[in-house]
Formats: sequence, structure tokens, C-alpha cells
Amino acid sequence: MLVWLVGAPPSAAAAEEVPPNIVILYADDLGYGDLGCQGHPAIRTPRLDRMAAEGMRFSDCYSAGEVCTPSRAALLTGRYPVRSGMCHDVRRVLHRDSRGHLPAAEVTLAEALRERGYASACIGKWHLGNFALEPAGHPHRHGFDYFFGLPHSNDMDSTPAAPHDAVGRLEQDPRWWNLSLWRQDAEVERPTDQAALTRRTIDEAIGFVAAHEHAPFLLYVPFTFPHVPLFASAEFRGRSRHGIYGDVVEELDAGVGRLLDAIADRGLDGRTLVVFSSDNGPWLMMGRQGGSAGALRDGKGSTWEGGMRVPLIARWPGRVPAGSVHRGVVSTMDLFPTALALAGVRPPRGVAIDGVDLAPALFANRPVDRESFFFYRGTRLFAVRSGRWKAHLVTQPAYNEPRATPHEPPLLFDLETDCGEALDVAAAHPDVVARLRALARAQEAACPPAPSQLGNVRR
Ligand code: MG
Repeated sequence: MLVWLVGAPPSAAAAEEVPPNIVILYADDLGYGDLGCQGHPAIRTPRLDRMAAEGMRFSDCYSAGEVCTPSRAALLTGRYPVRSGMCHDVRRVLHRDSRGHLPAAEVTLAEALRERGYASACIGKWHLGNFALEPAGHPHRHGFDYFFGLPHSNDMDSTPAAPHDAVGRLEQDPRWWNLSLWRQDAEVERPTDQAALTRRTIDEAIGFVAAHEHAPFLLYVPFTFPHVPLFASAEFRGRSRHGIYGDVVEELDAGVGRLLDAIADRGLDGRTLVVFSSDNGPWLMMGRQGGSAGALRDGKGSTWEGGMRVPLIARWPGRVPAGSVHRGVVSTMDLFPTALALAGVRPPRGVAIDGVDLAPALFANRPVDRESFFFYRGTRLFAVRSGRWKAHLVTQPAYNEPRATPHEPPLLFDLETDCGEALDVAAAHPDVVARLRALARAQEAACPPAPSQLGNVRR
């Protein structure tokens, strides 16, 4: 029998008799087009392809952030980053000198599921607070029982030996980097061997599964890669047909396979929802070291489709229909209310949640309850999608363009026929433009940006 810990059960939730394990695998800067099952012509990802064949692929999933920090805040809180202040128009993400962090008042997925007895781990790149400077930013302070990994991106701790353009160099030198690796509250290694990071991340994740196979768990694995600088282990380096970027993605794919095998070997497949996604689009500025958004326009940092539409694969044998593709608009923010509903946990009281329950899509391939999705660059609302239509009120390319361009009337694209956002059809559909503009204005009025945490910097 279910026991509701707070108040009455959520009316629409189909909570499970035994709360399922939730595993979130989260690549960094992996583009929409970078997996075999997403159409990449050279990178081989047999394990993620198989995960999709055994589960569901989502064609129209959005991250709610265009760069690392806001996207993670949205994933773990189910809220647009403007609500938590985890976005900024200039600094964009948390840096090594940042004192700001995810505010204590935000309820993370780990905190919410703890009510129902979930054990939780964050294994990988955190990037929601530099806890070396400010302990209140540590994953422990945001509900996670266990942490192993990096405080922020792998390009944020360079050595004096690093050339100015170290991040953009195709041939990376390990001596340029001085990464700090943590286990729980202690730094355990510095510098960290980046070529070993993917393997060690997976080893840690498997260890966590083995230690918690009898209790419901939340396992959040935000991979360091394929964020630049790129490093692959000797086993994978030089093996792909797509340079070091391909090597790194193929190693990540093999690691996902090892973790899925470990879950299956323990008999946990029938009560474990595993999802795989990415925090934002490909870092195109990096050229051959950046990924690909496939047919989508632009990449990381922009509100064009390539910046925020990301792969999403969900697998739960016996529950998620195998080999299915869901084509409605969903977001990685939706995982928060979805996991809570499955666990029978009420949403946090008095907190606006922007994600919606994915259950109709996940279990029956039916539309979820979403009228619109909003695209923010930093704190500013740039675009809105509703159904097949997307209107851009403001645009700014990811790079090579310092200024934002407002559009009145907004640009309008029909994503059913033009996912590459090439043909502006605003003139032919003034009624649609008016409706989407009204949705955007209402969102701006209802959701003013909270004070940014990203401007709080060590002086
Ligand atoms: Mg990223």
C-alpha cells in the first residue's frame, strides 16, 4: 500500500507500488545529431542505439537552459532557471571565482525523493555551486547523499602552462589542466587524469547501484564530456571515424552500456527508469572538437533549435514501449514532476513547477499537458514554441555576434515542416504570431527573473 507522506496524493499521479529507481545520464554539450540513433553518419553508439530500441526516443525534447549551469538547475528543480536565479546575461554560467550557487530554498529532485526513502548520488560534473569557495553550494546541501566528481566544467581549471587558446586546441596536453576531483566533502585528486574520467565515473555509478540495489535510488550522472577539452582513454583514443570528439562519445556510449548491464545483472531492469540526455547543444565554436546539431540551426548558447533541442532516450523494460518515438514537445524539466509522480511524492508546496508529468508520453506515447515552451538566453525570453510553431522575439547567434536583435513582428517558423528554422512564415500567419507573442508576454509578466546567483563573484 502506498503511504503519502505529505497531504493527499496528487490526483493524476500513477504512483508505483514499489518506488522505481531513477537514473539520469546527462552528457555535456552533446549535440542533437551526435548519436547513431539520431542520425550521425560516423560516430558509433551501439549501446545508446540499443537503449532507444528497447525504449523511447523523444524527437522534440528541450533543455530549459542554453548553457551548462541553467540547464542543470532546470533539470534538478523542474523550473525555468529565471525562477532560481541560476542564469546571467553576461557570465552565463558559474565560474571558478563564483560564490553563487543553487539557492537553498530550491527543492531538488534528490531532496524531494528523499521523503520517500530514496538514496541519491551525483556522480560527475556538478556546476551548481563552486563548493571549494562556498560550501553551501555542495551537492550534499542540495539533497544528494553521495558525490564524486568535479565542481564545474573541465576547462575551468587550467595551469600557467596552458596557452591562451588551450580550450580550442585540437591536440590537448594534459599538463595544461589542473582539475580538482572530489569525493564527498574532500578533494581527493589534483590534477585529475581527464582521460580516465569517463571510466571512473561509470565505475562509481556501478558501485552506487551495487550498494543500493535493495532500496529505491536516484542516480544522477552528469558526464564531464564531450565538453571541451576532450580526453579519451587509451582504449578509445584514435578508434572512431570522427576524431577525438567521436572517440569521446564512443567511450561515453560504452560506459552507458556497462552501467545498463550492471543494472540488468542485478535484476533491476523491471523497476528502473533510465533516461539519457544532454544539457545543451553542441559547442560549434570548437570546430572539429564540437558536436553536431544535425539538421537543427546553431548550437550551444543560442535559442535556435540547435542550442536547446537535445536527445532524450528513456528505457524501462515492460513499461516504456520498446522502439517508440514520441514527437510531442517535452523538456528535461519534465523529469522532476515525472519522477515525483512515480514515487508518490507531492510536488513541493508553494513552488511553481514548469515541468509537466511525462507519464502519458512515456507509457502510452500520448501528448503531455503542455501548451508552450519558452526559450531563454540568460534572463531574457527570446522565443516561444507552441505545438508546431516557434516564434523568435529576439535572436542572437551563439557566437560572432555581440548584440541581440529584437524582431517585431517576431520571426515565425513551422517546425513540422522546417526544423532548421530557415523560412520565416510570420507574414502568412499573423494570428499565430499574435497568439505566441501573447504567450511570451504573459510568461514574462508571470515569471520575473529572480536575482541572479551567477553575478556573485569572489573579489
Ligand atoms: Mg554544457
